[in-house]
Amino acid sequence: MFRTHTCGQLRLENKNETVTLAGWVQTVRKFGSITFVDLRDRYGITQLLFAESLNASLEANPLGREYVLQVSGTVNERSNKNTNIPTGEIELAVSSFTILNKSAVPPFTIQDDTDGGDDLRMKYRYLDLRRNAVKKNLELRYAVGRSTRNYLHENNFMDIETPFLIKSTPEGARDFVVPSRMNAGQFYALPQSPQTFKQLLMVSGYDRYYQIVKCFRDEDLRADRQPEFTQIDCEMCFVEQEDILQTFEGLVKRIFKDVKGIEYTEKVERMTWENAMWTYGNDKPDIRFEIKLCNLKFPSHTFPDRKDISSLVSGTGFNVFDDAESVIAIAAPGCSEYTRKQTDELTEWVKRPQVGMKGLVFIKCNIDGTYKSSVDKFYNTERLKAIADAANAKAGDLILIVAGPEERTRKAASDLRMYMGTTLGLRKADDYKLLWVLDFPLFEYAEEENRWVARHHPFTSPKPDDIGNMINNNPVIENAAEYLKHPYANIKANAYDMVLNGNEIGGGSIRIYQKELQEKMFAALGMDAREQQHKFGFLLGAFEYGAPPHGGIAFGFDRLCSILGGSESIRDFIAFPKNNSGRDVMIDAPSTIDEKQFEELQIKLNLHS
Ligand code: ASP
Repeated sequence: MFRTHTCGQLRLENKNETVTLAGWVQTVRKFGSITFVDLRDRYGITQLLFAESLNASLEANPLGREYVLQVSGTVNERSNKNTNIPTGEIELAVSSFTILNKSAVPPFTIQDDTDGGDDLRMKYRYLDLRRNAVKKNLELRYAVGRSTRNYLHENNFMDIETPFLIKSTPEGARDFVVPSRMNAGQFYALPQSPQTFKQLLMVSGYDRYYQIVKCFRDEDLRADRQPEFTQIDCEMCFVEQEDILQTFEGLVKRIFKDVKGIEYTEKVERMTWENAMWTYGNDKPDIRFEIKLCNLKFPSHTFPDRKDISSLVSGTGFNVFDDAESVIAIAAPGCSEYTRKQTDELTEWVKRPQVGMKGLVFIKCNIDGTYKSSVDKFYNTERLKAIADAANAKAGDLILIVAGPEERTRKAASDLRMYMGTTLGLRKADDYKLLWVLDFPLFEYAEEENRWVARHHPFTSPKPDDIGNMINNNPVIENAAEYLKHPYANIKANAYDMVLNGNEIGGGSIRIYQKELQEKMFAALGMDAREQQHKFGFLLGAFEYGAPPHGGIAFGFDRLCSILGGSESIRDFIAFPKNNSGRDVMIDAPSTIDEKQFEELQIKLNLHS
């Protein structure tokens, strides 16, 4: 037998047993005539004791870090116990050992606090994966996957694989393409998601489908994206939005319970997209903390149903507010005594290009009920009090106000809210708050092309009340400046996103299942009948043969794992991730291919630059 136990298994109960272990040498420590070795495998670490009698063998066969070792010996009680590890009460008194394989000196230490930088660890990912911290992440990922599969299985979902070599599925990114040797000059696209296939499975009557599946999107890799990532992809037949929300709240709660031991008993909050944008400036708000936006001024067409309170800030001669399209305030609790240095730092923070504001206006709501602002010249106490009341600010709070063009200002206010939430310790790592954001706009205006694009994807159904609107209206936007007045701007989608602590963890929709409506939708996106047939003839065809009402959702599996693991980065939860340039630096991909492969594909390379 190669080993009788693992390196994480032996306890005091095993005292005096003769055992054999196998693993990697973590450390070698020599104390006078005896040698201690920490032996590591996936399950833990066991201390080995090499007595003086083994010195000659050790000299003939010296051990080094990461050597692969098989040892036999007797389990002894340790005199110097280590309570930090489960095997810390025992050690193995080695009677014989075999070096199964040597190791070069690893380029970084295989420890929780390694000395290796990101690039080095990516290049030697197989060594990085030996580190406990990384292993824990992959174990968590496995647990999330297991919990997901159990829940979905218990709820009648069936795991069905869908192909990777397909035709473009529009999820708003560029496709990765694969040339076909047998069909020279033609290309497959890798799926951005299995969207159309899961819908076809509903047409085929499979009723409840799921897959934990790779998706491929060739997008610019902002901070924390990967060109290939994993989704929990689901679809259901004969359902309304409410069925989906309930089913998948259930899934996430189950994952919380199985993976984190958390009973999430609270009702999952729900919020319309309009309300999220109005109240938080963001369609994936972190609702763990109370700070809300106070919309002092906004263009009326953006929130036609909201009350205009711009008279509070306008007409005092303060040009910054008078000339701004939008003025938005937040009240930072308990910050009225911020020093000049602190407020200056906040001003610098909003002026950074990522936030893009020209400055920040402050109103201190002093504990004694007085106000002090950076614009006292223009605003008397009465006005300051009125603004403070509108912003729901209490004595002791600091009001921060940004002003500028609507979109940028709203985003800046949202960023500032999050920044203050973090600064004030209001975004607690072990506090989880789920939220459904509902009723998204169906379309988004693509400025450069002056046309509508699907906000989610083209298979998302409009809200039933808005369907009539779509069919009767022309998608052409005559006056780009006034696109928001076009009837399509107000059509709502039967779509929903699940948000966890300010991250979108899942999103989906009730789908279009009638051919005519699907054609209307494609037409709205500027596709003529030929293009529709070329790209989606198969789906339109399927809709002629009894397509049932259906809907679904997909969760970002890597992201969900990273949030549950308390990490900012999805990379930490992927065994072999790509770097920020989309490269796998370990295997050195992408890379050039052989001339012969080009020939077989009948492709000539002619790079533009
Ligand atoms: N396919 C969608 C996505 O990847 C999810 C869905 O609509 O089910 O975002």
